[in-house]
Amino acid sequence: MTFDSLQLIDPIRRALTAEGYETPTPIQAEAIPIVLSGKDLLGCAQTGTGKTAAFAIPILQLLSERQLHRNAKQRAIKALILTPTRELAIQIGESLASYGRYTGLKHTVIFGGVKQARQTDALHNGVDILVATPGRLLDLMAQRFVSLKHLEIFVLDEADRMLDMGFVHDVRKVIAVLPPRRQSLFFSATMPPEIVKLADTILHEPEKVEV
Ligand code: AMP
Repeated sequence: MTFDSLQLIDPIRRALTAEGYETPTPIQAEAIPIVLSGKDLLGCAQTGTGKTAAFAIPILQLLSERQLHRNAKQRAIKALILTPTRELAIQIGESLASYGRYTGLKHTVIFGGVKQARQTDALHNGVDILVATPGRLLDLMAQRFVSLKHLEIFVLDEADRMLDMGFVHDVRKVIAVLPPRRQSLFFSATMPPEIVKLADTILHEPEKVEV
């Protein structure tokens, strides 16, 4: 299996080549076609498996293709990636910057524990993809710096850690305001009953991938 057989658009293939990626990891080989087809995904995968690229690459591709049919001046958050920690949020942001470098799509990362001015400035300038930790996201939504009205793709990353860290209530609050017509991707390293229940409330007829 090579990245060639995944039918990625040229700007993304070039970025992956520049990054030195030659072959997709198992989760990427399975998840990328599912996400590109528009289906919901339930992924059981740990950090280190290439999980970030498994969602970042097809999201960048879907939004790039749709961008061609949109008025490019209307930037709005079309994809939201919710992740439990600042470190993970920063890593996901770096992955989007790398794989998306030739796409023209914009993203930003928001997390708690720092002043919000730089984050709200970035949001004000307009982004296509938002990477967020739950608390700061709710905070900035309450202050109307974030609107999810135009959201098309939602990713819940490391769902089991969200639960362990006590963020499930916050996650549910976010889910409650998402447009019901959306594509959702759900990743967790483990699938205890509580996680399966949470996944059921978020996903619609998901394809399952386990690595
Ligand atoms: P993740 O599981 O998303 O945290 O990724 C683990 C590491 O693998 C990251 O440092 C990625 O840059 C790297 N990586 C992900 N996919 C590939 C790939 N297809 N080829 C080579 N390295 C990769």
